[in-house]
Amino acid sequence: MKRAPLMIANWKMHGTLAEAVPLATAIVNGVPRIGEVEVALCPPFTALARVGELLRGSSVALGAQDCHWEIRGAFTGEVSPGMLVELGVRYVLVGHSERRHLFGETNERCLLKVKAARAHGLTPVLCVGERFDQREHGETWDVIEGQLQGGLEEIDGPVVIAYEPVWAIGTGVHATPAQAVEVHASIRRWLGEVWGKERAAAARILYGGSIKPENFLALIGEDEIDGGLVGGASLDAGSFVRLVEFAAETVS
Ligand code: PEP
Repeated sequence: MKRAPLMIANWKMHGTLAEAVPLATAIVNGVPRIGEVEVALCPPFTALARVGELLRGSSVALGAQDCHWEIRGAFTGEVSPGMLVELGVRYVLVGHSERRHLFGETNERCLLKVKAARAHGLTPVLCVGERFDQREHGETWDVIEGQLQGGLEEIDGPVVIAYEPVWAIGTGVHATPAQAVEVHASIRRWLGEVWGKERAAAARILYGGSIKPENFLALIGEDEIDGGLVGGASLDAGSFVRLVEFAAETVS
């Protein structure tokens, strides 16, 4: 089954309004001719409303980098899924490795967030990936299976999965197509056992980790890789549009 590629820009904690507005504008202007690829921008929370206005009526969707699982309450500093929906958000990242490693995000919390996002009609993008030492010790699949089991318990889709090896995020070192395909295929097999073959075949599994125009063609050319979660290279409109164009080439 051919799946429509999905390209997500994760701007992390980059983008004051003065920076986010021209960046989003340049991306929107660069991608409208790209029909077959879904594109989403995840700016910081402070830029969601403004970027959301800019994206309205365009082919580019709005995404958020995280959310809380409760509807409202005494959770200082948190943002609820309903608040995101109000701004037009469609995708929400869950369990990004920076959340897991810098802010103590657990699989249990990821599950709560995945459930809350789905309950509000948002598509969660569950991020999974192993550290370099875990790969060195042959623990890659154990780690990823644990993250899938923990983050998707009793969830039968639709959830986008992003395979992001921790050692590849922001390091300039990307997984080889063979390394990524091996993990993507294992993830899809696991989804097949839990969700059933049809849903697993329709699920989009993105690769993330030091994607650049120089390395992406080989990755997106693989049938198992359904798009990219892009950090650094999404802060440059020309680079991100180029990546979307590469993804479009795989479906044209
Ligand atoms: C990310 O933020 O998810 C990411 C993969 O970052 P980078 O592309 O900079 O490695």
